[in-house]
Amino acid sequence: MKIDLERLRLGIRESLEFHFNNPGTDEYLKELGGKYQENLKVDIKVERTGRFYLAQGRVTSLLEVQCSRCLERFYYPIEVEFHLKLVESQLKEEFTSDEEVIFFDCDEVEIQPFIEQLVFSEIPLAPVCRLDCKGLCPECGNNQNLSQCHCQHENTDPRWDKLKDLKVGKEVT
Ligand SMILES: [Zn+2]
Ligand SMILES: [Zn+2]
Repeated sequence: MKIDLERLRLGIRESLEFHFNNPGTDEYLKELGGKYQENLKVDIKVERTGRFYLAQGRVTSLLEVQCSRCLERFYYPIEVEFHLKLVESQLKEEFTSDEEVIFFDCDEVEIQPFIEQLVFSEIPLAPVCRLDCKGLCPECGNNQNLSQCHCQHENTDPRWDKLKDLKVGKEVT
């Protein structure tokens, strides 16, 4: 996923568009039990500004991740817009406080690690297959979205008894 800046550098045009359709690296997602279902599709427009290049783009893909409640796998669509500065390495010191910047030495700039990081940050810490996912029964492990088990879910926490007493009890003075 390389952006070739040579044509921009030659000053033929003020901006250029790039389109990529590349497979993502599952390595990144493995820790979350996820993987790419579709390629990373990236549309990006690079403009020459005074001292650096400004890239604006959009990335879409489809991931497969695991629900944190019921452990079923489900599809998670990705669609993110981004801004990015492409800055020559020799200007590094001026741009170190910028968050979204890639420094480059030659005319080719590899953006895939940035894109994958962006996708990665879109995945929630605890993904759920649907908002009302009922998860697994803590006693028997049954997936409660699919069927109802017969376990009793009584609240045996003694702290609740105290609370009950408070509700019906007399006012404490
Ligand atoms: Zn779920
Ligand atoms: Zn159960």
